[in-house]
Amino acid sequence: MSTILTITNLTKTYGKLTAVNNLSFTINKGNVYGILGPNGSGKSTTLGIALNVVNKTSGEFKWFNGNLSTHEALKKIGAIIERPNFYPYMTAYKNLKLVCKIKDIPEQKIDEKLELVGLLERKHSKFKTFSLGMKQRLAIASALLNDPEILILDEPTNGLDPQGIHQIRSLIKDIASKGTTILLASHLLDEVEKVCSHVVVLRKGEKLYEGPVDQMITSNGFFELKSDNNAELIKFLNDHKNITSVKENDQIITAFLDQPMSASAFNQDCFNAGIRLSHLVLRKESLEEQFLQLTVQLN
Ligand code: ADP
Ligand code: MG
Repeated sequence: MSTILTITNLTKTYGKLTAVNNLSFTINKGNVYGILGPNGSGKSTTLGIALNVVNKTSGEFKWFNGNLSTHEALKKIGAIIERPNFYPYMTAYKNLKLVCKIKDIPEQKIDEKLELVGLLERKHSKFKTFSLGMKQRLAIASALLNDPEILILDEPTNGLDPQGIHQIRSLIKDIASKGTTILLASHLLDEVEKVCSHVVVLRKGEKLYEGPVDQMITSNGFFELKSDNNAELIKFLNDHKNITSVKENDQIITAFLDQPMSASAFNQDCFNAGIRLSHLVLRKESLEEQFLQLTVQLN
């Protein structure tokens, strides 16, 4: 597996504020990575440092195993970290032609990339006539002109309508399926779940999780319970092998599971121990709730 980007113990401070805190992670070729975290968690700062537009305070980052100069490495990267900035009165084609000139890319690439993002029919329309979603797709076409190894996007669907969001997300998956590695920052769990294979979860600049999206949050759920003798029930729960923690609130007892268990199997255990339940419900937090717990801002 070849490595595209390695970040090691990266820290960025602004005065007293630590925007990125001792962050390490690795981006390997061929995956779709998300940097997920609430607003202000350090996503854009991390991308800015890796792209040489923000100075790091300490730590390291290395592109493509460190065999290339940063200047050479940046030629193999396509990135959109700011609002797309094109000339409003120039056509889509002419705007991209200008990018080709600046980056020394053959003009023949333009139609190929416009087709990929679904804008070939609109190549002679002025940029200012485009919807926000089309502008974003043009920016993606522009970032792909040099056939980069990795495409970096910061909050790629921000401000778009549902249709625009859908188009951008399927475009990202489409680009990834053709072999381009993708790194995107998002504050939306839903987006990362839909688009990414791997995720780095940030809170206040610190990494909470790194790994496959489908292993990000594993919860086996919890029982909501009531009995005539809650004290006895709590004692039983504390001794039960599947229960990790117990909370009591307004006569309702919440018992968290560390492995899957059916309500009926649990009811049987209680019955065998001589405990009769007047209330038993098995619940599972939604991913959204679990994510909020994972990233809840601690004071
Ligand atoms: P995110 O992209 O996750 O929303 P940012 O990386 O933009 O987060 O910001 C992380 C933290 O750093 C925030 O608290 C933000 O206010 C602060 N920050 C970002 N850029 C600057 C700057 N140029 N000067 C001072 N503070 C900044
Ligand atoms: Mg940001």
